[in-house]
Amino acid sequence: MSIELSGKEISKSIKADLKELIEASGITPVLAAVIFGDDEGSVMYAKSKTRTAAKLGIEVEIIHYPDIARTDEALAKIEDIASDPHFHGIILEEPLPDGIDPYPIREAIPPEKDVDCTTVVNLGKIISGDPQFYPATPKAVVEILEHYDIPIEGRHVVIVGRSRTVGLPLANMLLRKGKTGNSTVTVCHSRTQNLADFTKRADILVVAVGRPKFIGREHVTENTVVIDVGTNYVGDKLLGDVDYADLEGYVKAITPVPGGVGPVTVAELLRNVYNSSIILR
Ligand code: NAP
Repeated sequence: MSIELSGKEISKSIKADLKELIEASGITPVLAAVIFGDDEGSVMYAKSKTRTAAKLGIEVEIIHYPDIARTDEALAKIEDIASDPHFHGIILEEPLPDGIDPYPIREAIPPEKDVDCTTVVNLGKIISGDPQFYPATPKAVVEILEHYDIPIEGRHVVIVGRSRTVGLPLANMLLRKGKTGNSTVTVCHSRTQNLADFTKRADILVVAVGRPKFIGREHVTENTVVIDVGTNYVGDKLLGDVDYADLEGYVKAITPVPGGVGPVTVAELLRNVYNSSIILR
C-alpha cells in the first residue's frame, strides 16, 4: 500500500485560516489576473481562481486582452495595471502569445505585487534565503511533505523539470539551510540522459514536466515518495505526469492528480495575495 498524499485537507485548512485573517484585516485583497491572447486554458484557470478566492473574501479581476500580440502594447497595459493602487497582487497568465517577450512584461510587475514570484527580484530573494513571497507550487510541494511528516533534511530529492515557476525555485528552497531544506537536490530536464538512473536514487521524486504518465515504475523504487506536479488534460480527464495506476501500491507514498499539489497551490497563491494586501496597506 502506498500512502496517498492528498492536498485537499491542507488546502482547506490554509483557506480557513486565510478567511479569518482577511475578515480581521478589514481589507478586500484584489488580484489582477492578466491574460494576453486567446489561450483557453489561461481563461479557464483564471476563472477557477476567481470562484475559490471569492469564498475567502479575495476579489480576482480577470483583465483579458485577446487582441494584444506585441510586446510594446502588452508592456503599456501591464504598466498601467502595476501602478493602479486598487490591485494588491498581479498574476500574468502564461503562455503569452508568440509575439510577446515575457521577460519585460514579468519585470514590469512590482516585486511587492508579484504574488506568482516570477520577477528577478523575487526569484533572487528565494536564492538568497530571504523571500517576500514563496512561489505557490514549490511552496505547495513543501507543505505536503511537511504535513505528512516526510523528512526533507538529509534526503536526496530529485526534481524532473527546471522551469522558473516550479523546478528552479523548488530546488533552491530545498537546498537552503533549515528544517524544510538541507536536502541534496538533483535537477533533471529534457537533456538529462538515462533519467531513470537519477530518479531511482531519489528519496523524494518531484515531477514537473507536462507530459501525461511520463513517469512509470521503471523510474522509481518501493521507497520513493512521489510528488506529481503535472496537470495535463487528455480529453476532459486531468492526468498527472506520473502513471498513478502503475505506481500506486508500489511506491512508499504518492500524490494523486487531481487532489494533490493543485489545491494546495491555489491556496498558497491566495495566501500571497493576502500577504501583498498587508504589505501594501
Ligand atoms: P515547463 O515550463 O514546460 O517545464 C517543463 C520542464 O520539463 C522543463 O524543464 C523541461 O526540460 C522538462 N522536460 C521536458 N521533457 C522532458 C523529458 N523528456 N525528460 C526530462 N525533463 C523533461 O512546465 P512547468 O510550468 O514547470 O509545468 C510542468 C507541469 O506542471 C505542467 O503539466 C503544468 O501544467 C503543471 N503545473 C501544475 C501546477 C499545479 O498547481 N499543480 C502548477 C504549475 C505547473 P527543458 O528545461 O530542458 O526544456
